Amino acid sequence: MSEYVQDMMMEVRAKNPAQPEFIQAVQEVAESVALVLERYPEYRQHRILERIIEPERVIMFRVPWMDDQGDVQINRGFRIEMNSAIGPYKGGLRFHPSVNLGILKFLAFEQVFKNSLTTLPMGGGKGGSDFDPKGKSDNEVMRFCQSFMNELYRHIGPNTDIPAGDIGVGGREIGYLFGQYRKIRNEFTGVLTGKGVNWGGSLIRPEATGYGAVYFAAEMLATRNETLEGKICLVSGSGNVFQYTSEKLLELGAKVVTASDSGGYIYDPAGIDRKKLDYIMDLKNNRRGRIKEYVEEYADATYTPVNPERDYNPLWSHKADCAFPSATQNEINSKDAQNLLDGGIYVVSEGANMPTVPTGVKLFLEKGILYGPGKAANAGGVAVSGLEMAQNSMRFSWTREEVDNRLRVIMKGIHKACVDAAEHFGTSGNYVNGANIGGFIKVADAMIDQGLT
Ligand code: NAP
Repeated sequence: MSEYVQDMMMEVRAKNPAQPEFIQAVQEVAESVALVLERYPEYRQHRILERIIEPERVIMFRVPWMDDQGDVQINRGFRIEMNSAIGPYKGGLRFHPSVNLGILKFLAFEQVFKNSLTTLPMGGGKGGSDFDPKGKSDNEVMRFCQSFMNELYRHIGPNTDIPAGDIGVGGREIGYLFGQYRKIRNEFTGVLTGKGVNWGGSLIRPEATGYGAVYFAAEMLATRNETLEGKICLVSGSGNVFQYTSEKLLELGAKVVTASDSGGYIYDPAGIDRKKLDYIMDLKNNRRGRIKEYVEEYADATYTPVNPERDYNPLWSHKADCAFPSATQNEINSKDAQNLLDGGIYVVSEGANMPTVPTGVKLFLEKGILYGPGKAANAGGVAVSGLEMAQNSMRFSWTREEVDNRLRVIMKGIHKACVDAAEHFGTSGNYVNGANIGGFIKVADAMIDQGLT
């Protein structure tokens, strides 16, 4: 690491105590971007790296709501407006008990580069709450969402900041949030994406992140004249990204053998076929159950509960060709990364954001496997959110085929941008450098053009 980046990282650590995920994300980008700073000193002169890591605005607010027993509950709400140099802030809302300022800052920071890579005019943001929708009634979730929007509405707008879903925020939550925004503002606008199709949503938006991660993997494999057909795949999670990653993998002839939630994981050596995937979708989206119930229905599969004593996740130890981490950050530690390599994995396409710890990423890069980092591989979701914004502005809807084709073209473009940037800076095949540099340059140039803002 260059001395310049080392000094900057010391300052980042001192200024952002207790934000390990944010520091991790900044360090990764800084290491890649150091190659650019060496070749183009104007970025250093304008102190772009120091400016780009500082959010333009952080909003933190109280969210009081009443549970079904009539008791008052209080959660904390956030919106991080990270960078708007190339477009309005754009990024999801996460509702999960682990949410805190550092996690949302890391996600907002990643979002800036991801959105830039899509080629669409979107800045970066992220938000959410430490509210846990699990185990809550629909009425409780609605009251929480309404209270959350009672404050958030002041800060967002179709040309200012356009939130979407993320962990714990799916179609149900977006509906309640949109309804409250519409009531307060007395206007029907595309202020959120991931909306229902009959009230402004785009076809393919729910599918987009998972489909995109699979398209990205297919592009990486194509560089070696291979396809996904017949490949055995480990996929984690069981939510939105898991479901549509698995759907597309099935369509392309691959075999998915795992699924998980925060309680544990299932391994089904026969493969999760269409019928079994429908079962998981119903379990998670309608019945809101736990993945362990899968083995009650399909006895040949095994369930392994999470064991906090274990320093690895056995999901990543099964023999397979490809891995699609689709649950959460840092879900692959360095032992898991080694187990993946030992098990024969040579393609990793990250549906989740920053699911691999830095030492794990290093192992993948050293081994020269096809490793697609989240900010490139999972950009399909926000790309189709961008397409939803475009359709809302035109007051017009594209067909499934039209949106899916655009998604495919965008993922192909992101893949090429990564390959070209990595090659241009002398690190061919390194998609981490490719994604960070490709995303950085466009935003950096816009910041220089627009002066000190
Ligand atoms: P989701 O529908 O809420 O599903 C999340 C899944 O991950 C659930 O199975 C959940 O299990 C599991 N999970 C969450 N936190 C966990 C933890 N701390 N430990 C173990 N398992 C955990 O969310 P999603 O939209 O699929 O998002 C998954 C990942 O993709 C996240 O990293 C998100 O940032 C990223 N991503 C999503 C989108 C999008 O469009 N949705 C776009 C880009 C990136 P439980 O139900 O037990 O918590």
